[in-house]
Amino acid sequence: MPIRVLPDVVAAQIAAGEVIERPASVVKELIENALDAGADTITIEVDDGGRRMIRVSDNGGGIPADEVELAFARHATSKLQVVDDLNRITTLGFRGEALASIAAVSRVTLTTRHHDEVAGTTIQAEGGELRSVRATGAPSGTVVEVANLFFNTPARLKFLKSDSTERRHITQLVTRYAMAYPQVRFRLVQEGREQFHSTGSGDLADVLVEAFGLDTFSDMLEVSPLPPARADLPEVEVYGFTSAPALNRANRSHIVLFVNGRAIADQSLTYAVVQAYHTLIPNGRYPLAVLMISLAPQEVDVNVHPTKAEVRFRAPDAVFSAVQRAVRNAVVAQAPVPSMQGDPYRDVDEGWRGSRTEAGRGGRPLVPGERQLQMDLDAFTPGRRAHQRPDTAAFPRPADTDIPSGLGAPARPRTLPVLRVIGQVGAMYIVAEGPAGLYLIDQHAAHERILYEQFMAQQAAMEPVAQQTLASVTVEFAPATAQLVAESLDLLAKWGFVLEEFGGTTFRVRAVPALLADQEPGDVVRAVVQDLESEQDPGAATLEERLVRRVCKTAAVKAGQTLSFEEMEGLIRQLERCESPRTCPHGRPTMLHISGEDLARQFGRE
Ligand code: ADP
Ligand code: MG
Repeated sequence: MPIRVLPDVVAAQIAAGEVIERPASVVKELIENALDAGADTITIEVDDGGRRMIRVSDNGGGIPADEVELAFARHATSKLQVVDDLNRITTLGFRGEALASIAAVSRVTLTTRHHDEVAGTTIQAEGGELRSVRATGAPSGTVVEVANLFFNTPARLKFLKSDSTERRHITQLVTRYAMAYPQVRFRLVQEGREQFHSTGSGDLADVLVEAFGLDTFSDMLEVSPLPPARADLPEVEVYGFTSAPALNRANRSHIVLFVNGRAIADQSLTYAVVQAYHTLIPNGRYPLAVLMISLAPQEVDVNVHPTKAEVRFRAPDAVFSAVQRAVRNAVVAQAPVPSMQGDPYRDVDEGWRGSRTEAGRGGRPLVPGERQLQMDLDAFTPGRRAHQRPDTAAFPRPADTDIPSGLGAPARPRTLPVLRVIGQVGAMYIVAEGPAGLYLIDQHAAHERILYEQFMAQQAAMEPVAQQTLASVTVEFAPATAQLVAESLDLLAKWGFVLEEFGGTTFRVRAVPALLADQEPGDVVRAVVQDLESEQDPGAATLEERLVRRVCKTAAVKAGQTLSFEEMEGLIRQLERCESPRTCPHGRPTMLHISGEDLARQFGRE
């Protein structure tokens, strides 16, 4: 075929394909135009998943009559004039492509009246060609109706998913815009039924209650902006809500990020959120989060993606750290102890607006109104309560205990109220009383947490790990494993495992961490190496972490081990000063809490 310039209509259809992938893309562009026009009420109506009809009405500024035709021309925009404007974009649109693209692949009717003019205009276009323009009476604002989407691009039409899938995309999109613009009243009607609305109260919390339901929302924690970590970093404000660790999902898709009012996909920032839950959420589970990230427009390049779904930051590390710090701060500060009644691992319908599955993981139905109880640590400042024990920062480890305490009690501020040990149940749980009720503590999980934090503190202080030297223990590995071990000798040594090559695939174990002195060294080393090999612990960021977790797990008191009163007290005293006392390093809870009110209710004392 000879080279030829494509006819305009064909070129327009190709270009449209970039911007308009599916019905939800039309909805997105029309909502963005309405928001750019300053609307505070936006109604979206959709039939047949958007295939037959999409109508978006707004009460924004409208388009002047003499510009209406131009609005449909490619690269016609009122939002940008010179290249330099691209560096400080504050509108959602800027390329002047959306109306042209939509018109290229559908039948569009746009009715608008500019707020300064008395008459409105109706314009119709079909398959990229103008059909009619006429004056009309209309309220101030704009209504765009898109019919028969992709009627002239059968290939695209074929690739559309079922109506219900397209509907879901649309609902998700509208919900997200409602979150980013809580001051705007959104209403979504699909197939004649209202599917979602927001009140326009200006409060993100109100939108989230509509989007998630009150049950889910009440397990979310507010994320507040923090001052920048360093003065030389650009200011990045992070505001929003993130789930308490007990509320989590099987994938990352419930982490929603907005940058300057634009919903974006960003793997790195998503990871920043996930990482903030490090050791607080079980492996393979992910938080829900809705975060508004604000920074100066010149810090963000929004012109890098056809549908503007991705952005580029001038200082990505600063943004990453701001997100991670803000979320971590919220989670560590507010995470409540799982209440006795709520199954901390209860699963939640994966639907965006899903109703909660009314059963915990163990199949136990949830009692209506179950709520986790927020502990008010301020109420437990040492010295306030009569039965308070002396400050226990230097609480001596009982001499006759079998509990390895690692490096001694960490000198950290208290993170739990003072707990009084009552006894042990089933050689597994410690029963304790605190000012806010009864606590059941999993001895193994709690001890794992203590050892883990002690190890990490020791590493931060660059102290060597105490070791137990051994006479002659050798371990043999499979060839591939032996190679891994040979490569990891330094890493292993850093954590107290001194191995040396002993010919072939055999290694001599020279030392193990002192914490593990009473265990069979060969078994311990094999377990650690197995952890290094497996990819089963995605929550652990590094090999090193896996190794530390394994050591802690191995060294921690086991379920089934009877503890003396002193041992239990020693354990609780240390737990009270862990940074994250409520979960083990693998993210499982270390304790359950029954408040005084719960007890009263259960005994019918109310
Ligand atoms: P862009 O949004 O990138 O400028 P569009 O093709 O989406 O490009 O819109 C072209 C122009 O039409 C906009 O710049 C704006 O001036 C006008 N316009 C489109 N939709 C609306 C609306 N709902 N209200 C007011 N003006 C609108
Ligand atoms: Mg636009």
